[in-house]
Amino acid sequence: MTSLYVHIPFCVRKCAYCDFESYPDRLDRADEYIDRVLGEARKRRREYGAFSCYSMYLGGGTPSLLTPGQLNRLCGELLDVFPPEKGAEITLEANPGTVTAELLPAAVRLGFNRISIGVQAKQDRLLKLLGRIHTFPEALRAVDMARQAGIENINCDVMCCLPGQTEDELAETLTGVMEAGARHVSCYSLILEEGTALYKRVRSGELSLPDEEAERRQLRRAARTLESRDFERYEISNFAQKGYESRHNLVYWERGDYLGLGCSAHSFMRGERFDNPRFSRYMAGEDGLDRETVGRGAALEEEILLGTRLAKGIDVGHIRGEYGDPAADGLLNCAGRLKGLVVLENGRLKLTEEGFFVHNAVVLELAAAVQETGPDTQRRNG
Ligand code: SF4
Repeated sequence: MTSLYVHIPFCVRKCAYCDFESYPDRLDRADEYIDRVLGEARKRRREYGAFSCYSMYLGGGTPSLLTPGQLNRLCGELLDVFPPEKGAEITLEANPGTVTAELLPAAVRLGFNRISIGVQAKQDRLLKLLGRIHTFPEALRAVDMARQAGIENINCDVMCCLPGQTEDELAETLTGVMEAGARHVSCYSLILEEGTALYKRVRSGELSLPDEEAERRQLRRAARTLESRDFERYEISNFAQKGYESRHNLVYWERGDYLGLGCSAHSFMRGERFDNPRFSRYMAGEDGLDRETVGRGAALEEEILLGTRLAKGIDVGHIRGEYGDPAADGLLNCAGRLKGLVVLENGRLKLTEEGFFVHNAVVLELAAAVQETGPDTQRRNG
């Protein structure tokens, strides 16, 4: 089971909070970039042999900036090199300011069956603060265009904990996207990345972020708003109607194999992690750098970090079978000390809503508890 991620590093304009690798002035190199990505895909097929893809995610950047012809050339060949499995989830990430009536039918013909739309907020004031190029009505139009093209599996990204954002504004945004037909909502708190325009405005004191208590109130309100319409929280920041959980993202959280193509893409293949460099070096032919086999200790830490993000939590029996009794018992003992933050249900260790608020701290405690015991170094058959 292997998934594909393809990074498209072009955008119309740099958003004020963005530190992803994306460029507002390089779209003229898109054809050359597509050639390079296809070359990398063929190289990886030689390395790993043929495999079919469980899911594919075309992200960025703004993949919806590609023309239908470019999308066709890129994805047509990629899906030839790595044919999709039956039922594969194939997602196009789209910026509502760039979705055209021509692009979506072309995407559907190629096999795209999911779209992820960066809505972020309903209020013009907040969209402007974020430096987004779209308005909320344009975002709703993009959702509508996707449905008209036959895509039912629609995610909307919404941001919370923005400077000056109220709980009511957040709830209005969430209600708006659910009423428009979203089946999945990713609701992320703003992370202030050093060097971004927003970072400078907050650091200078011009803008301020909500304090911890206000942040928790927003996150609780978001969860209640989404749950009131049968959106279930299946991951710390992700909610979906039944059957619309993202197969692709679950691969990341469940430590499945994925191959990242394009500049700045990360991969986890056959127990090894590696990265691609930024645009210029990538275009000059470098890729697959810093290869590192994930050792057993690091793998266990990843299981804890990622598994605690999921509402279903960590399967303690799996930890026992893979990493040994001391690791599983260490987790259970530590969970007993983290009352109110962690629960054990049906052999799974899960974070409560309060636990999700302090996810990083809980992970540190659990990881320290298993480090004290040390995971078995021998792989087990159980
Ligand atoms: S559209 Fe996305 S990738 Fe592009 S600048 Fe904005 S946040 Fe960054």
